[in-house]
Amino acid sequence: MADLVTTPSPDDLPSGEPERVLSPATVAVTAGRPERVPDAPLNAPITMASVYVGGGDLEYGRYTNPTWTAFEDALGALEGGRCLSFASGLAAEATIFDLVGQGQKVVIPQHAYHGSIMQLADLESRGRIRVQLVDITDTASVVAACEDASLVWLESPTNPALELADIPAITAAAHEAGAYVVVDNTFATPLLQQPLSLGVDIVVHSATKYISGHSDVVMGAIITKDDELYAVLKGRRDLIGAIPGPFEAWLALRGLRTLHVRVERAQANAKALVERLREHPAVGDVRYPGFGAIIGLELAAGALAADLLTHKTRLWVHATSLGGVESTFERRRRWKTESQTIPEGFVRMSVGIEDVEDLWADLLQALDTLT
Ligand SMILES: *Cc1c(COP(=O)(O)O)cnc(C)c1O
Repeated sequence: MADLVTTPSPDDLPSGEPERVLSPATVAVTAGRPERVPDAPLNAPITMASVYVGGGDLEYGRYTNPTWTAFEDALGALEGGRCLSFASGLAAEATIFDLVGQGQKVVIPQHAYHGSIMQLADLESRGRIRVQLVDITDTASVVAACEDASLVWLESPTNPALELADIPAITAAAHEAGAYVVVDNTFATPLLQQPLSLGVDIVVHSATKYISGHSDVVMGAIITKDDELYAVLKGRRDLIGAIPGPFEAWLALRGLRTLHVRVERAQANAKALVERLREHPAVGDVRYPGFGAIIGLELAAGALAADLLTHKTRLWVHATSLGGVESTFERRRRWKTESQTIPEGFVRMSVGIEDVEDLWADLLQALDTLT
């Protein structure tokens, strides 16, 4: 052991102010750490184990894993509830849809993530549930749809249309009808929107996106403040086994540590790009909800122009998915499953954390070839 001078332990020092509420930036960096004792690793290591010595709380690798727990503690602290991690965003969603009783109704935005809509359509086609698609910007019609619903699924902003829902008003109506309310918070992240504080029952994330943030992990998460719901969802996860690997959970937590820095930079880049895109003659419409780092770009000349744009850039990569440090974009209607109400020339842009002038120069030279 190295020669060290003996210093007083922090416990021996007089404590100053009363405990303060930490800002999300501090929580992102510090939550979910192992107990601070000499020689403990500062962050949770990857625990590769299917079997634990019996007699404790862990028991078996499908039920729990210390690396998941570290990730869950951190994301739970940011969203203000208890978190369960899953193999993917859609695995988390399937676990929630599993709670809907036979023949009961689910309300979902017509422009929700297409995988969410496809899962529900599949359940409906087999007679399991009923589904009602709604225009999430039309609060009165959503409130009316809540009346006989069992689950109200919200996404705000929606992917890819970037529409916003009136979460408190819809939540009040859904609760009046005895329905649970879920918010897919993938686009906003807990830094820009905390649905549990608005009265929502469950938050779901595709941790594949901003939470992990480096385009190298597929993972999902559910967060709730309701202990009963937590126990039911944990029970479903135990049984179904849609669990992440320890390495994925470790990568996701490592990504989460910089969430605030990434989101701040990506959002600032997005805001700067929105202003400039609106001025360009090849651009028909720019959708931006005022926060976050996803932009909806509609090219005046339609699908062909969108395809040309996405293949004429050097930095921007034509790729699906979003929320990584890298700037990517995609013509959404290249997917047959995308909503037919999304225009053919619509490009979803996921703004990364590169230098904004480099990003703009790359876009500009490609846009200029279209005019
Ligand atoms: C990607 C995405 C999902 C699905 O998550 P996976 O991790 O790909 O399973 C769900 N909701 C939204 C808003 C998404 O962007």
